[in-house]
Amino acid sequence: MYLGKYDVIVVGAGHAGIEAAVASARLGCHTALFTMSLDGIGNLPCNPSIGGTAKGHLVREIDALGGVMGLAADATFLQSRMLNLGKGPAVHSLRVQTDRQRYHEYTKQLLERTENLELKQGEVVDLLTEQGKVKGVRTRLLAEYGAKAVIIATGTYLAGKIFVGEASIDSGPDGQHAALGLSDSLRKAGVTLRRFKTGTPARANRRSIDFSRMEVQYGDEPVIPFSFMTEGPLKNKVVCHITYTNPETHKIILDNIHRSPLYGGAIEGIGPRYCPSIEDKVVRFSDKPRHQIFVEPCGENTDEMYLQGMSSSLPEDVQNDFYHTIQGLEHLEIMRPAYAIEYDCCDSTELDASLEFKQISGLYGAGQFNGTSGYEEAAAQGLVAGVNAARSVLGKDPLILPRQGSYIGTLIDDLVTKGVMDPYRMMTSRSEYRLYLRQDNADERLTPTGREIGLVDDARWEKFLQAQQAKKAELLRLEKRVVRPAEAAALMERTGQPALVSGVTALELLRRPAISYKDLVEIIGPGEKITDLVASQISTEVKYEGYIRRQQAKIRDLHRQESVEIPKDLDYSQFDGIRLEAREKLNKIRPKNLGQAGRIPGVNPSDIAVLAVELTVLKNKNG
Ligand SMILES: Cc1cc2nc3c(=O)[nH]c(=O)nc-3n(C[C@H](O)[C@H](O)[C@H](O)COP(=O)(O)OP(=O)(O)OC[C@H]3O[C@@H](n4cnc5c(N)ncnc54)[C@H](O)[C@@H]3O)c2cc1C
Repeated sequence: MYLGKYDVIVVGAGHAGIEAAVASARLGCHTALFTMSLDGIGNLPCNPSIGGTAKGHLVREIDALGGVMGLAADATFLQSRMLNLGKGPAVHSLRVQTDRQRYHEYTKQLLERTENLELKQGEVVDLLTEQGKVKGVRTRLLAEYGAKAVIIATGTYLAGKIFVGEASIDSGPDGQHAALGLSDSLRKAGVTLRRFKTGTPARANRRSIDFSRMEVQYGDEPVIPFSFMTEGPLKNKVVCHITYTNPETHKIILDNIHRSPLYGGAIEGIGPRYCPSIEDKVVRFSDKPRHQIFVEPCGENTDEMYLQGMSSSLPEDVQNDFYHTIQGLEHLEIMRPAYAIEYDCCDSTELDASLEFKQISGLYGAGQFNGTSGYEEAAAQGLVAGVNAARSVLGKDPLILPRQGSYIGTLIDDLVTKGVMDPYRMMTSRSEYRLYLRQDNADERLTPTGREIGLVDDARWEKFLQAQQAKKAELLRLEKRVVRPAEAAALMERTGQPALVSGVTALELLRRPAISYKDLVEIIGPGEKITDLVASQISTEVKYEGYIRRQQAKIRDLHRQESVEIPKDLDYSQFDGIRLEAREKLNKIRPKNLGQAGRIPGVNPSDIAVLAVELTVLKNKNG
């Protein structure tokens, strides 16, 4: 039953699939987006929140490129907080509590209204290929659709299996069906699949929680939006609460650890190192007398509460017992039990930096399917896969984001060059250039690229150019404006600094750690059209000028290494000067350039030195 042909087919309407489908359609490709259920579009099966450390950077970068997640988060947030304000600007990260139901509605409607895009409820069970090239897909209802490119963004549904104590069933998250069938078809096409797992805590009824016995956590005022396009003012709508486990909680967990599918061996999948279950925390950090729990609302029109920090796969009776030992949760009414889910994902080293499979032309991978964990990581990959599937159909070169220019580039480079041993979560420590890759300058780093590839529309481009002009004019004003000792007297005293003896430029003053841009504006008056974001960019760039300059020098070095391209079909086994392990790894990963070769685990600087010489010899030989 052949039902038509598309340019691009996206399998999965989670956070990766949404970005992929919208990007592909907006770039002019006739796109179809398949999902198991339209009611599961943009589902937040774990924490109803967007952003967080390093994840906030990804959301800003997706937004700067013209993606969806930043706008969706601003339109559906409940509470907003800037994390790590006590640390340097490189790790300041926005995080919002999100209304789960409204996030679903917002993303579904956006997809329904996107031109060139057709939404389809249907389970894809077969990838159709011919001589190493994708041809289309077949659904469980035996419908066939042709396509020039297919993006797999199946998340935690692919051969999904959930575990609660001794019980396990084939299932996706939140009672949705597991996707059973596609795994075999992908294997037949040559995709290597592996088994990962993740877990989530219980959801409980608000009425059964005693908030008076917990700490209250308020949102920030004013609220800073994720998207450069969002105009304020935005208001926090809810508060969150904090409580803690205690030794009694830990005792119940340890007494029943033999009934845990994780410790009992029923779960084979590898779990996320940086999102441990409460069992893992109690076992691995046995010296800690308590673990923090955030009690978070799931939405404005629901009384469901999320117990962050308490994911588990212990049996329901044990869950009841250990939750009831916690202050404020003594009468907890569990609405959805905590569970673990195992699922199939691919080996990301089989992908190249465009997220296309090296061995199957026209097949792309994105999201959890690529071995990552997190909505933001998924959305970032979805955007790149969607852009590149469309560009391949339109006969254009792929968009490759270098690691020195963005966290998205860092994420993808880590996946395709190093591979992952467990579900990969983005962290600022994964980048060598984090002072340059801040969340406040994502627009400067990426909006021109988004414009070039055709995803950044006129409104966003106009706004970006205006902000750039305003920033330039303001830096000039600070450079030229001399602040006289009398003008700064009160400020110097208030900040405990010696009085000025002669005039200094406003820029000089801003370089001082104790003086903020806000302080300066009180003396020299506000700059023209300077938004909070531009103000924080100016402040950081002036105060960290030296560090940023040094990082940019390192970035230029890496650029130089990355400019040494390596022939696609180079056979490394001919180079005796390179160690055997390195030759094998190089032949497997097939790096695009010397910089990428140097990041492959098991390839040492000495191997790179030999390779650099061999490449020069080859180049001279080929003239
Ligand atoms: C229990 C649980 C706990 C989690 N815990 C964490 C955590 O602690 N930290 C964290 O960062 N992230 C966590 N996550 C992960 C987070 O949910 C995912 O990272 C994110 O949703 C991945 O987005 P995605 O787009 O790759 O896939 P998903 O959001 O899972 O979406 C997949 C989509 O694919 C569709 N689909 C799948 N197979 C098919 C098919 N064959 N045909 C048609 N449609 C198909 C589904 O219907 C769905 O629309 C957890 C997820 C779950 C389920």
